[in-house]
Amino acid sequence: MTVAVVGGGASGLMAAIRAAGKPGKQVVILERQSRVGRKLAATGNGRCNLTNINISPDRYHGGADFVVPALQRTDAESAIRLFESLGLLCAVEEDGRVYPYTDQANSVVDVLRFAAAGRGVSVRCGCEVLGVRRRGKGFALETAEETVAADKLIIACGGAAGARLGGGMSGYRLLEALGHSRTELRPALVQLKTEGGETRALKGVRAEAELKVIVGGRPAAEKRGEVQFTDYGVSGPAVFDISRDALSGKDTEIVLDLLCRLSEEEISHRLLRRAEEWPGLSLENAFAGMLHSRLGVMTVKRCGMSPSGRLGNLTEDGAARLAACAKHLKMKVSGSMGFDAAQVTAGGIRTDEFDPYTMESRLCPGLYAAGEVLDVDGDCGGFNLHWAWASGLAAGDSV
Ligand SMILES: Cc1cc2nc3c(=O)[nH]c(=O)nc-3n(C[C@H](O)[C@H](O)[C@H](O)COP(=O)(O)OP(=O)(O)OC[C@H]3O[C@@H](n4cnc5c(N)ncnc54)[C@H](O)[C@@H]3O)c2cc1C
Repeated sequence: MTVAVVGGGASGLMAAIRAAGKPGKQVVILERQSRVGRKLAATGNGRCNLTNINISPDRYHGGADFVVPALQRTDAESAIRLFESLGLLCAVEEDGRVYPYTDQANSVVDVLRFAAAGRGVSVRCGCEVLGVRRRGKGFALETAEETVAADKLIIACGGAAGARLGGGMSGYRLLEALGHSRTELRPALVQLKTEGGETRALKGVRAEAELKVIVGGRPAAEKRGEVQFTDYGVSGPAVFDISRDALSGKDTEIVLDLLCRLSEEEISHRLLRRAEEWPGLSLENAFAGMLHSRLGVMTVKRCGMSPSGRLGNLTEDGAARLAACAKHLKMKVSGSMGFDAAQVTAGGIRTDEFDPYTMESRLCPGLYAAGEVLDVDGDCGGFNLHWAWASGLAAGDSV
């Protein structure tokens, strides 16, 4: 029996390793890039955050119920055990994030490549699958050079995110050609653009903040963590986490609390005390020691005050306005940096068209799908790769 796996990324490699090594079964990976695991090698800033010890269904979106059986079968511990059995030492870091002990994403690619080779998986790189059709009970895959026949087919082409690393529409098209349908696609875990160009002056500034997302006047999400200001808007781990919700509708605003550890009253009090102690200082120093200097100046300007004004002239009302502004810094979201910059795709092939235990199509027997091509996306922190492993493993075992 021939099993063709289209896509040699995270889920495809895992599916192929699990499908292989059984007598009479030939497994072939067809990968369009020049090597397998290219995106995988770039994950986690080159460190690969491969899973998280806090894996649970509520960290997933889209087909959140669909993930349950695969996650029950492959929890974080068993994923770590599996990688350790392949020779990868793992290390648990802040927030339960798991990385290879080597700190090199390439180590993850290496152990998967070695395991695939050891189990006799044949890997054909530079081989893009351009079309697919049913042939008898099996499949015929069109590449630029030939037609590849397969008895069973696993589509593990990933999603639209990270185009430079192999992301694209190909997997959706192949599955659609076999009768499947998809939901709307949106970039997720992505930097946000904001209106007004105000962040240009803050480029490079990092701050710990509590972020609230308001969509159409309604609270949609909140997250505390690091925010990085850029010339187009905001980035950083906390922004990535709320980006999915921030792009879920029109008329979106983010509200940043830049001083979450202090109440408005405490901030006002500190400002007034400072005004009393150092009346000759200029207002640009009002937040010195509390906020990054450029954030302090921006807050003063936002309140309609001049940074060169005297701190000694600060009234109680002025201090209250400055405090409120630092705790409710509002920015209008105008969009995102798009699929090219996104880490993952929200939306994908409808999960109700697949069996959540086996990853087999309910519409086309012998067809399986795994990874990001399905309508499943996870939070930032190792959840997306974990889904790739868990779904790839389920598909590979059942094929
Ligand atoms: C920059 C970046 C950093 C990330 N960091 C993390 C992280 O640290 N932790 C985490 O959990 N997630 C991270 N992610 C997300 C994670 O990488 C993906 O969710 C995961 O790789 C999806 O696995 P997959 O197997 O579905 O797809 P991929 O790993 O993208 O693999 C799909 C493969 O299919 C190939 N392919 C596509 N179409 C065809 C075709 N027609 N014919 C042949 N081959 C084809 C592609 O070339 C690709 O190699 C990151 C993503 C990006 C872009």
